[in-house]
Amino acid sequence: MDLSLFFAGTAGSVPTARRGLPALLIRRGGDRLLFDCGEGTQRQLVRTVGLPEIDAVFLTHFHLDHWLGLPGMLKSFELRDREKPLTLFGPRGTTELLATMRRVLGRLRYPFAIHELDAGDAVEFDGYEVAAFNVRHRGSAFGYALVEDARPGRFDAELATALGVPFGPDFGRLQRGETVNGVSPEQVIGPDRPGRKIVVSGDTAPCEMVRVAAHEADVLVHEATFLHEDLARAQETGHSTARQAAELAADAQVRLLALTHLSTRYAARDIREEARAVFARTEVPRDFDTVEVPLPEKGEPELIRFDPEGAEAAR
Ligand SMILES: [Zn+2]
Ligand SMILES: [Zn+2]
Repeated sequence: MDLSLFFAGTAGSVPTARRGLPALLIRRGGDRLLFDCGEGTQRQLVRTVGLPEIDAVFLTHFHLDHWLGLPGMLKSFELRDREKPLTLFGPRGTTELLATMRRVLGRLRYPFAIHELDAGDAVEFDGYEVAAFNVRHRGSAFGYALVEDARPGRFDAELATALGVPFGPDFGRLQRGETVNGVSPEQVIGPDRPGRKIVVSGDTAPCEMVRVAAHEADVLVHEATFLHEDLARAQETGHSTARQAAELAADAQVRLLALTHLSTRYAARDIREEARAVFARTEVPRDFDTVEVPLPEKGEPELIRFDPEGAEAAR
């Protein structure tokens, strides 16, 4: 099952020529989940991977840079006669936020639902869930953890045969938990293997909840709004420095740290270098880069730079 992150917008607060406002598209199999939807998100998608029939949007918090792209995108879905249902998830207040935009949106003709979450709530999808947790920002704000269901342990076919279970339907019976010819499933099937985990911090100061949620995550997408020389400013505004994000990633033993929510005041290179000095497996994606997340036994999560010509050709 393919699992990847597409960085549709990697700036914080103010867009630049190269970086749009926060939006992260997570693709798993045929599912498309969007985390935040900054101003301009639909165009960021249209000019690269195309605007997909997103299944759900998750808002981290209500600062303008994280949701202003939503009304336009919701309307575009209507104009192209979308029929598929769309659910918007967010902290308490999401319904009210959308109500204030009713005059702009009018009525949407496709099924559109708003579902407010409390910290600790998890939304179930086919084969995984997305759980909300509190982070430390100004006002209430969420991070999200996408966690796949555990996978069954590895079946040792050679051992099963050696123990006297013939190849064929009996293998299936063992895998369904039956004892066959005196051989129990535990003898030939390893322990459950954890699914993959992606954690998105949203805007936050360094936060224990993120560290706990991100424990051994495959990918942690963490904000790095400041360099550590501006720590005081980060503390005032409820944001993190690149070094703090890297320290947290190291503590949480994640497989890959992707830094985002970049400020216009720094070069991405400086953000990356500061973080890598603490945690080597750090990337600072540009807009439209992808991180592919293979199953652990198949390799490490990897940043793939955006190829404009490839995107054009794929059209
Ligand atoms: Zn922000
Ligand atoms: Zn914010």
